[in-house]
Amino acid sequence: MRIGIMGGTFDPIHFGHLIAAERVRDELPLDYVWFMPAAEPPHKHSRTVADPIHRLRMVEKAVVDHPKFCVSKLEFERQGTSYTAETMSILQKRYPEHEFYFIVGADMVHDLPNWYRIQQLIQDVQFVGLNRPGYGRPELPDAIAKRVRYVSMPSIGITSTDIRRKRAAGKSVRYLVPEGVREYMEANRLYET
Ligand code: ATP
Ligand code: MG
Repeated sequence: MRIGIMGGTFDPIHFGHLIAAERVRDELPLDYVWFMPAAEPPHKHSRTVADPIHRLRMVEKAVVDHPKFCVSKLEFERQGTSYTAETMSILQKRYPEHEFYFIVGADMVHDLPNWYRIQQLIQDVQFVGLNRPGYGRPELPDAIAKRVRYVSMPSIGITSTDIRRKRAAGKSVRYLVPEGVREYMEANRLYET
């Protein structure tokens, strides 16, 4: 089967993530998309991230009504920083019959040359890049560029950062996240301060 991996901090998950995943699933096409929240994201050392359990619960709520979307807890079962190269090497060994596609927004495509063990990672997976407001298509080293294909989506200017700021300011996040996610944030008073 062809499996898309949608990795992220998901702090919180929002409609940008869901639209990106659905576009790639539909276009490639993919059999499933596995949403994989990072327990300890390598990119986010500079700020406090919501409790992994809250981030995971919100992802579960967001994908529950899509039969082709599910949640992988793989990065929660491991200790330490969640490096994609390690995660994907584990997945390759565990599921040699599947073909994996790692889904990334344009900001992450720019960052690819700096990823931990990128040379190994590009052997294991293909990347699928999506447009994101504020980021063009970068010039990548040939070896990486060969392993990235692009899928377009309606430009969605939603970010988790903006949702956290809105919550902290007491502003509405309706229609930026699925209702179940909004209710979960309300009930657990997430990002209020
Ligand atoms: P933060 O503002 O905290 O960085 P974020 O909105 O960027 O949050 P992440 O969890 O960092 O969300 O992103 C996970 C993946 O989803 C990344 O590959 C990112 O590029 C992609 N992504 C997030 N939001 C969008 C969007 N609006 N359009 C396209 N891709 C997106
Ligand atoms: Mg981000």
